[in-house]
Amino acid sequence: MIFDRVWVDAHLCTMVPRGDDPLGVIEDGAIAAKDGRIAWVGPRAELPGTAAVTTRCDGAWILPGLIDCHTHIVFGANRAREFEMRLEGASYEAIAKAGGGILSTVRATRAADEDALVASALPRLDALLAEGVTTIEVKSGYGLDLATEARMLRAARRLGTARDVTVTTTCLAAHATPPEFAGRRADFARVVADDIIPAIAAEGLADAVDAFTDSAIAFTPEETEWVFEAARRAGLPVKLHADQLRDDGGAALAARYGALSADHIEYASAEGIAAMAKAGTVGVLLPGAFYFIREQHLPDIAAMRAAGTRIALATDLNPGSSPALSLLLMLNMGCTFFRLTVAEALAGVTRHAAAALGMTDRGALAPGLRCDLGLYAVSRPAELCYWIGRNPCVGRVVAGR
Ligand SMILES: [Zn+2]
Repeated sequence: MIFDRVWVDAHLCTMVPRGDDPLGVIEDGAIAAKDGRIAWVGPRAELPGTAAVTTRCDGAWILPGLIDCHTHIVFGANRAREFEMRLEGASYEAIAKAGGGILSTVRATRAADEDALVASALPRLDALLAEGVTTIEVKSGYGLDLATEARMLRAARRLGTARDVTVTTTCLAAHATPPEFAGRRADFARVVADDIIPAIAAEGLADAVDAFTDSAIAFTPEETEWVFEAARRAGLPVKLHADQLRDDGGAALAARYGALSADHIEYASAEGIAAMAKAGTVGVLLPGAFYFIREQHLPDIAAMRAAGTRIALATDLNPGSSPALSLLLMLNMGCTFFRLTVAEALAGVTRHAAAALGMTDRGALAPGLRCDLGLYAVSRPAELCYWIGRNPCVGRVVAGR
C-alpha cells in the first residue's frame, strides 16, 4: 500500500478504548494518511506499506487533534477594566454604572465591523492552535440583534479560512436580554425564535442553536423551548447553557430535545444527568468559568459516571467569565477541580468533544477518520493533564497535512 504520509518513531494515544486501556495506547506506533484521512494505525513493525513522505517524531506522543467544543471567541473589546474594578472593591452596581457586565461586550461587539471581530479573535485562536487544537466551536451571543449575530457568525466562519482549523458555528442569540428589550425578556425570546433563528438558518450561518437557561439572569425553560422549537423548524441541532448557577431543570430540558450537549451543569440533578445519558446528550464541563467566578458547587461527576453520561471539557473562552486561552489548562483544571481521571479528561477534549459537536469523523485515531493530529513531547499522556502552564505541543496536522 502507498500512503501519502506516515508518522513513525512515535507513541499513539488513539482514544479508542481497548480492553482495560481507555486511552488505546500503542507504543512505538505508526499512523498513515491518505487523502486527508487516517488510512492505517498500529504498531510500527506491522506498517503495511510505504509513503511518499515519512515523518520521524523523536518519540513524541500523537493524539487526535484537540477539539474545543465551547467557545465565545468572537467578541469586541475585553473586560480587564471590570476585573480590575472588582478587585479594587467596586460593587456590581458600580460596575454596571460604569458600563460593565455582558452588555459592555454587547456594545463593543455591535460597534465592531466584521474585519475587526476577525482581527481581535485571531490571536486568541492562535493560542489554542499552538496547543494542538484542530477544531473549535464558536458561538454568537454578543449581538442580540440579527445584524450583529449574523456578523459574529460570519466572522467565526472566516476564522476557519484564515487558519488551518475546522470551525463550527452556533447561534446563541438567546444569551441575554439586550438593553432595548429591558423588562421585556419574553418579547426578546420571541424575536429570537421567530426572526433571528430563521434568518440565520436561511443564510446557512449556524451549525447549531444554543440558549442560556437561568430563571434569574437569563431565559426561563419555557422561553428556551420557543428557541428550541425554532431550531427544530430550521433543522438545526441544539445545545444548552444549563444549570450553571442553580437547578432549573436545564439538563432534562436539553435531553428532551435531544440536545448535542448540555454545558456547565454544576447544579444539574442526578435525574437530569441520567436523562442526558439516555438521550446521548454530552455533558460539557467548563472549569475555566468554574474557576474564574470562584464557583464552589461541583458538577455531579459520580452521577455522570453512574449514568454513563459522556463528559467533555472546553475553555468557554469568553471575556466575562472565562478568559481562558488554553485547552491544556482545562485538562488540568478538570482533573484538579472535578477529579476527572486522565482518560476522562483526554476523552473530553477529543472523542466526547466531537460528540458534543455532532461530529463522527474525528476525535480518535482510527482508520477512516480525518487525519487531524496533535504531537506532544511528553513521557506519557498524563503529562498533558499534569503541568500547569506548559505547552509541550511540537506538531499539529490538519487533514493529513
Ligand atoms: Zn458559554
